[in-house]
Amino acid sequence: MIKIVRSPKPKVLERHEIAWTNVLLDASTEEGKKRAEKKYQHREIKDALLVMFHDKCAYCESKISHIAYEQIEHFRPKSKFPELTFEWTNLLLSCPICNGLAYKGDHFPEETEGGPLINPCEDMPDEHLDFVFDLDARLATVVGKTARGETTKKLLGLNRDDLRAYRTKVIMRFSVLASYAKTDPEAKRLLDEARKDDCEYAAFVRSLPTGDIGG
Ligand SMILES: [Zn+2]
Repeated sequence: MIKIVRSPKPKVLERHEIAWTNVLLDASTEEGKKRAEKKYQHREIKDALLVMFHDKCAYCESKISHIAYEQIEHFRPKSKFPELTFEWTNLLLSCPICNGLAYKGDHFPEETEGGPLINPCEDMPDEHLDFVFDLDARLATVVGKTARGETTKKLLGLNRDDLRAYRTKVIMRFSVLASYAKTDPEAKRLLDEARKDDCEYAAFVRSLPTGDIGG
């Protein structure tokens, strides 16, 4: 997870968020509620989030669109906070797995429950999470540094097996590049590229030490 600077509110929300929210809160049937609710999926909102998050999941930093449909994620779940369904600062981009029922789903732990979760647009993820590549164990692991970091890591499954195995393969390659970065300009250039916001697992690449192989 990396820090993301939120872009300006899309014009469609400027124009409609109050009316859309009122219709949703006034809906008296489940069908009416569902019809009112889905306006958050407006293309303009999704496009703004895709640019803002560089087509990466706000939580696990996986690129999404080449393997799955991106999801507009409500940081505070719309089931518990319907008044925030169209609130721009409550919207993130997520992969279907982090946002799915097995992980975040409708959960939103409060402070007394180890929360709230780390919000990449409001918190500094580095203050709550460490991104550790263990070359010997061959594992790229997210470690919670605070109670909120630990809750976030667990609830979002940031070390789930498939994700960590894939992430480890990516980070293994960049760790080799990092070992040459001080002496090889091309290695340094590629490493600098991989540290940018739009690259997968940038938080991990940024944490790699540069130097000679074997230190
Ligand atoms: Zn994800």
